[in-house]
Order: sequence, then structure tokens, then C-alpha cells
Amino acid sequence: MAANKKLLVLPGDGIGPEVMGEVSRVVEWFGDRRALKFETEEGLVGGAAIDAQGTPLADATMAKAMDADAVLLGAVGGPKWDNLPFEQKPERGLLRLRKDMALFANLRPAICFDALVEASSLKAEIVAGLDIMILRELTGGVYFGTPRGIETLADGTRRGINTQVYTTPEIHRVARVGFELARKRSNKLCSVEKANVMESGVLWREEVQKLHDAEYGDVELTHMYADNCAMQLVRAPKQFDVIVTDNLFGDMLSDQAAMLTGSLGMLPSASLGDPDETGRRKALYEPVHGTAPDIAGQGQANPIACVLSFAMMLRYSLDLGGEADLVETAVRNVLASGKRTADIAAPGEAALSTAEMGAAVLAELETLGA
Ligand code: NAD
Repeated sequence: MAANKKLLVLPGDGIGPEVMGEVSRVVEWFGDRRALKFETEEGLVGGAAIDAQGTPLADATMAKAMDADAVLLGAVGGPKWDNLPFEQKPERGLLRLRKDMALFANLRPAICFDALVEASSLKAEIVAGLDIMILRELTGGVYFGTPRGIETLADGTRRGINTQVYTTPEIHRVARVGFELARKRSNKLCSVEKANVMESGVLWREEVQKLHDAEYGDVELTHMYADNCAMQLVRAPKQFDVIVTDNLFGDMLSDQAAMLTGSLGMLPSASLGDPDETGRRKALYEPVHGTAPDIAGQGQANPIACVLSFAMMLRYSLDLGGEADLVETAVRNVLASGKRTADIAAPGEAALSTAEMGAAVLAELETLGA
């Protein structure tokens, strides 16, 4: 079993420290029971870092993130810091991590646990057994392309400009992650763009196809327009395995896919950078949810999204798929036994606290894997 992997834990604000506390117990369990030792350091990010260090992410914390095998983050932000200037807001800490670690591939799984089928807004038969992965390009495209801005024209009217731009290397590196992911799953990749109306989409489609033909002929590759993909995700989401798409379409399609599965408190994510010469990728794992100020400090938050983010870390940073399966099965069994935090409980149903849900996952891990 791998030894002494360096893990930087950044709990952040609001419910971040509460859900991360339960993940820390899972990390310790792996050390005690599975001989999987982590060299864990904890740091400040977001509002907590602003309060203690005067900046949303100190240089020393950033250096630790660059040096770690993986970074596990809770969530950042909250009303206390809402009125700070944009450059000093808690979110800048998260943006700096993503930028300096050059995290270009955002992985958002959409998994529908059988026990929570009824929480989806879609019919049970459409979502039961759903397990798909949306892979979003995170550092290019229209959110970053130039020229951009708002200009005033000679007649006094104004024009807003953003530029959708992708290069061959940008397309290849994210498509490569998509093909590799597909190989570890059901071997199907669907590449999504708008090649019917956008030149950047034509390039995207051609380059993904070229990479496929040159290196990934064993993976079943299909292409789909983004508007059709949005429809197919609610019509028949189980037709997909991995979807790879650009920054803009990925932003929307990943949120849409996430909501097929029910609660925000259940959704993990991973953001990956390029592999270095040793094959190690910089990586950040975090729940999709925010700091939930409405329930922060009350011990009610669902820790499962954060626990499943740790499972993604085991799978994608440490290549420990079996250990990741163990965590995911523990969560699945806990839900199947009817245990719920308030966000996923039916009206009138008894709800577990954050710590009780963490304890239930640990007890299940103990049963499954000690
Ligand atoms: P949110 O995700 O924090 O909360 C939305 C709703 O979902 C709330 O009702 C909340 O109680 C509930 N919820 C979220 N996570 C939950 C969990 N684990 N268990 C139970 N219920 C949960 O989104 P928001 O209210 O729009 O934002 C609140 C703050 O979080 C803002 O400051 C925002 O900027 C920040 N935020 C941070 C991140 C991040 O750090 N990645 C992401 C989104 C929002």
C-alpha cells in the first residue's frame, strides 16, 4: 500500500470545517486499518485565511499546495466577507489555487444512489443506476479568451465582447483525460461542442477525433451538439459514460447532470492539472456545494460530498481504485440502511447530525474493510 502521501487539507469557511472533520476521521481510519498513511497538513483558505492572515490564500499555503500529492478543500465564502473588494474576497483563494496549480480538467460525477432515486426531479426509471462523468475544460474558452470587455460605440450604444478560443494542445490535453477516464469506466466518450455554428467547435470536434484515431481507437467515441446533449441528459442520461466538453458548455451541463441526482450535499468534484515528469498530476478535490451559511455551525451539514471527494482523490491521485470503491460502497450502504442527514431526509423523517453521518460511514467502513 502506498505510504506517506502528502495531503493538504483546507477546510475553509462555514460548513467546510464541519464536513472536513468527518473526512479527517475517514483519513485516520485508512491509516489505522488499511496501512494507508498520509502526511496530512492543514491550512487556511478563504474567509478564515483573511481573518487570520489578511489574505484569502497565503503564499506559504500556496507553496504547500504545489508540493502536495493532493489538496482537499471544504468550501469558502460567507456573508461576513461579502462586502470586501473583488480582489480580496474569499473566492480569490480558490481561484488562485486553480490558476497556480494549472487545473484544466474538472471532473464532476453524477451518480444516483438507489436509495435516493426519489430525490431526483426525474422519474425513477430514468435515473436509477445513473453513473456518468462530466469532464469540463476549466482554464480556456470564452471565460478567458481575448478580446473581451464592454465598449461604447460612436453612436453612444455599447457592445459587450467575449471570445471563444481553443488551441490544439488545449483540446488534446483535456480530451486525453477524457479518453483515459473512459478506459477506466465503460470505455465510452462523448465529445460535446457546437460545431454546427462555431469554428472553435469544428476545431474541437476534428482534434478530438484525430487524437482518438491516433491513440485511443479502443475507446468508443461519439460527438454531440451541446443543445442536444442538454436534452439527452434529461431524456436518457444513462446513454452516457464520460462527456468531455469546453468551459462554457461544461459549466451548464455539469450543473444540469448534478441535479439529476438530488442534493448538493452529495456531489463531489476533482480538478486535475498536467502530469509532471514522474506522472504525478496536481489535483484539488472539493465538494460542489458552498459554505451553506444558513446551516453553518449547527452540525446539520451532510458530509457525504466531502467524503466522496476524498474517494475521488484515492482513485485519481493515488490510483487506489479499490480503496475508493470501499468508501463509495460504505456511503451507498449507509444510504440503503435509511440513514439521512436533513438535506436528503423526507419531510418528517428523523435526520442524523454531521457527526452521526460521519460515524455511520466509519462503522460501515469497519464492517466492509477492516
Ligand atoms: P451553498 O451550496 O452553500 O448552499 C445552497 C443550499 O444548499 C443551502 O440551503 C445549503 O444549506 C444547502 N447545502 C449546501 N451544502 C450542503 C450540505 N453539505 N449539507 C446540507 N445542505 C447543504 O450555496 P450558496 O448558498 O449559494 O452559497 C453560500 C456561500 O458559499 C457563498 O458565500 C458562496 O460564495 C459560497 N460558495 C462557495 C463555493 C466553493 O467554495 N466552492 C461554491 C459555491 C458557493
